[in-house]
Amino acid sequence: MYKLSNAPLLNAPQIDKRLESLAQELKACDFDIILSALTGSYIFTADLSRRIATPKLRIAFIKASSYGESDQPNANVHISGLEGLDIKGKRVLLIDDILDTGNTMYTLVKALADYSPASIKTCVLLNKESRRTVDYHADFVGFEIENKFVVGYGLDYANDYRTLPEIWTLEEV
Ligand code: 5GP
Ligand code: MG
Repeated sequence: MYKLSNAPLLNAPQIDKRLESLAQELKACDFDIILSALTGSYIFTADLSRRIATPKLRIAFIKASSYGESDQPNANVHISGLEGLDIKGKRVLLIDDILDTGNTMYTLVKALADYSPASIKTCVLLNKESRRTVDYHADFVGFEIENKFVVGYGLDYANDYRTLPEIWTLEEV
């Protein structure tokens, strides 16, 4: 059994404030397209992209899911939604919710390279550096967090908690 921590790890004003500065940094990079990895990053992507708000910035979604022992570096990552993806010669910003072992982002970047983009930069809302098993670092990070399981603001546990506006730690009871 799990329950939410007593107070949020990151409340809505904290998230808002960080997204505002992150968006200013990203605006300066002049990306052509945001590629967002569903489902966990749906709220982050919406809130961030409307702050970047440049008229020619496109958006597309892919889905990444791990199977096997998902916290192992050699876990398999299944990617869908790549059909018809038009990123050739484009400056791509890949967005995910959280960087944990690094396996998902590493696999996604490798797969996207086959589509000949001009460049790929990555942005995650949360980074658990201590959990990294793959040598991979995001170019833009919202918040560094400890090794705790978090939910809310798009992130789930068994599909629950996604719609909470804050980020919470899940505790075992
Ligand atoms: P990685 O491949 O980097 O180990 O894991 C990335 C994926 O695992 C994320 O996209 C996310 O779906 C899931 N994940 C890792 N840590 C957490 C966490 O603390 N909370 C939630 N809800 N998902 C997590
Ligand atoms: Mg994910």
